[in-house]
Amino acid sequence: MRIVILGAPGAGKGTQAVFVAERYGIPHVSTGEILRQAVAVQSAVGLKAKQYMDRGDLVPDQVLVELVRDRITQDDCTPGFLLDGFPRTLPQAEALAVLLEELVKPLTHVVELKVPDQVLMERIRGRAGQGSGRSDDNDEVVARRLKVYWEQTAPVSKYYSENGSLVVIDGLGTVEEVQTRIVDQLGGK
Ligand code: AMP
Repeated sequence: MRIVILGAPGAGKGTQAVFVAERYGIPHVSTGEILRQAVAVQSAVGLKAKQYMDRGDLVPDQVLVELVRDRITQDDCTPGFLLDGFPRTLPQAEALAVLLEELVKPLTHVVELKVPDQVLMERIRGRAGQGSGRSDDNDEVVARRLKVYWEQTAPVSKYYSENGSLVVIDGLGTVEEVQTRIVDQLGGK
């Protein structure tokens, strides 16, 4: 299975991504995690990415496309992968389509978790208040990340609804309820 999971900040995407990857036995490829790791070890990519991440802005497409290409062509991704946090812009979605065509490995599922805006704000504020440990979880940066999401990432779901088989899943309810909805869509295994 080659899956993309989409969702606004606060939609529960990260939590569900971990579950889906485990359930279907595929690597969880989180571009946010890979970038945070790169920042922590101060690699060239990390040094470049940090300034954008700290502001809540997107890291340039080219950096992400190369990073994803390197990651999904590793051996553990032969049975498939779950992409979490990528693609986040239309150019990324288009670059991914070209890459997967080259590899003759098209996406099998694109899943979007949908949660009303009001709930997103409440969830994100809660996360910031609890101190998630993420340097990009303070109010100002959260607001910036949401704005960036609506401007640059929301068009990606439209892209998949027109170019593929986007499945929209209701992200309200308990973690288990949402898990059940996802498995209903992806199929039992
Ligand atoms: P995340 O953990 O997915 O919320 O990502 C944290 C931060 O990493 C984002 O706010 C961006 O600065 C950066 N990032 C992660 N994935 C991408 C991507 N696909 N394109 C651009 N920037 C990204």
